[in-house]
Amino acid sequence: MDQEFLIRKMEKYADEKGIPIMEKEGMQFLTEFIRLNKIKNILEIGSAIGYSAINMALVDESVNVTSIERDKDRYIKAVKNVKDLKLDSRITLILSDALNFNTDEKYDLIFIDAAKSQYIKFFEKFSSNLKEKGYIITDNINFHGLVSSDKSQMSRNLKGLVTKIEKYITFLKENKDFKTRFFEVGDGVAISRRKKSYDGKKNT
Ligand code: SAH
Ligand code: MG
Repeated sequence: MDQEFLIRKMEKYADEKGIPIMEKEGMQFLTEFIRLNKIKNILEIGSAIGYSAINMALVDESVNVTSIERDKDRYIKAVKNVKDLKLDSRITLILSDALNFNTDEKYDLIFIDAAKSQYIKFFEKFSSNLKEKGYIITDNINFHGLVSSDKSQMSRNLKGLVTKIEKYITFLKENKDFKTRFFEVGDGVAISRRKKSYDGKKNT
């Protein structure tokens, strides 16, 4: 089966099962970023069925992705999709809660696309796995347009989630070690990079 066909099949499956894979526009933005910045080594938090991991790996044969997923059924589906696309030598899937997963590996890019309520924890935990000049990219910063919108009509649960993302945005804006840019693409993407003063040439 050809690549395009398998990818369309994944999109259809995600749509039918309500699995929140990256929006097309956001996916294109991310793969273009990987291409332009010659990113080779990626850690993804939240594989779902492997859609974004596969798209990132397809940017170039030298790209390697490690991706963590806590839901067993989705993980199994991801393993199958990665095999079908013959990418198992370049995509490593891990069944675990990301907050319980530890590694000493350093990555060029950490892509956060998992539980919104844990974004700050993911950022703090995995920033030590980032190469000096690496990037942390976070998806769903706009949360379907709900961020910064009127919360009075929202359910308690939804309001809680939206508040968490707003807190994450504030956390990024006020972060002393990272500079973050926000992009209105897909469901909202943030790109964070260590500030210059932390790449060895410390200024006072
Ligand atoms: N990146 C995927 C979509 C991920 S959807 C793509 O675009 O194709 C978010 C996924 O994160 C869900 O499958 C959910 O089970 C997983 N997830 C949420 N919290 C997690 C955690 N703490 N550790 C690991 N996976 C988590
Ligand atoms: Mg997402």
